[in-house]
Amino acid sequence: MKTVYLDNNATTKVEDRVIEVMSDYFSNIYGNPSSIHDMGFEAREKLEEAREKIAQLLNCKSEEIFFTGSGTESDNIAIKGAAYKYQKNGNHIITSKIEHHAVLNSFKALEKEGFNVSYVNVDKNGIIDIDHFKSLIKDNTIFVSIMHANNETGAIQPIEKISDICKGNNIIFHTDAVQTTGKLIIDLEKMKNIDLLTFSGHKIHAPKGIGVLFKRKGVHLKPIMHGGHHERKIRPGTENVPYIIGIAKAFEIAQNEHDKNEKHIRELRDYFYNQIIGNFDKIIINTPIENSVYNTLNVSFKGLEGESILLTLSEKGIMASSGSACTSDSLDPSHVLLAMGRDHLTAHGSIRFSLSKYISKEDIDYTIDILKETITKIRNISPYK
Ligand code: PLP
Repeated sequence: MKTVYLDNNATTKVEDRVIEVMSDYFSNIYGNPSSIHDMGFEAREKLEEAREKIAQLLNCKSEEIFFTGSGTESDNIAIKGAAYKYQKNGNHIITSKIEHHAVLNSFKALEKEGFNVSYVNVDKNGIIDIDHFKSLIKDNTIFVSIMHANNETGAIQPIEKISDICKGNNIIFHTDAVQTTGKLIIDLEKMKNIDLLTFSGHKIHAPKGIGVLFKRKGVHLKPIMHGGHHERKIRPGTENVPYIIGIAKAFEIAQNEHDKNEKHIRELRDYFYNQIIGNFDKIIINTPIENSVYNTLNVSFKGLEGESILLTLSEKGIMASSGSACTSDSLDPSHVLLAMGRDHLTAHGSIRFSLSKYISKEDIDYTIDILKETITKIRNISPYK
């Protein structure tokens, strides 16, 4: 049976060229980068080369790059580390209602510890309401975290504007760029008011379990884990050299081949969108097409259960997602769609399709054909029709 993988916002296939460069580091260059011998020196040298490569791609300094164990870990280190460090200046922190749980639950944990948290609203397109954001800022606001683009809808957020407002108010600004790194060009010299930024390997064709944290020079974090001197004590633990080599290679490929990939993926996503619009009724498009990451299409089939659509698609080899993968074990409707003002019925019937460079037009045509069969079948037995 044909397999069409349309769940690339959940995770991606590891690129062959990435596996190739990593393999040497499991069996040959396996020294501990902290060791004082030739094998350790070699591992350290390669690790620092990878750090330098990532810094160049982001247009920042290599000492501003820290390796972590995941996007979630980078988010936790940035959010809790900044909140604790700057607590003496105030205890008010701000995030949005549509963040990934790595961010939302970090704020919830801080809220339990006594921090005062405000949650910014989004409009019906899932984009931050800047006026609401401005109205939330108080004299004691010390920290703001707003994602670069949403994982469920692909909506791109006005983070440069938000970071400028933060700078003007002496507030530290963090962005979760897990869904944009490698897809949108991020230039930290130009985006000069971003203080902290996180991303993850497995969304850019590197392995799971490797993350990056950018911390601008002059911004300080209180470490939330304790151990050795690794990653200048921001993230103690022996560095995962093979995966660090892998994420640097994957990011380099993504940047070097960006224009070609963007053109290919955007054309297919827009074709998919037009096919959906043309072939289905009782749908709501949750992705703001003109202002979204070009690989994402989130659509609600009104009155239907997202999970039953997903399982039927999966039987035909099509892998998609309802909301974020991390909430697929919960039957709660997506907090992102609810924040956008969608009702429960619409939120429950949402499917997220997320494309990669490996998808072809034939894959999209096959998906549309199967989707037509699936929706007709499920609507026939649905009490909502
Ligand atoms: N932030 C966003 C926006 C994500 O989409 C994800 C993963 O889905 C994460 C953070 C967590 O990254 P990781 O899976 O590397 O912990």
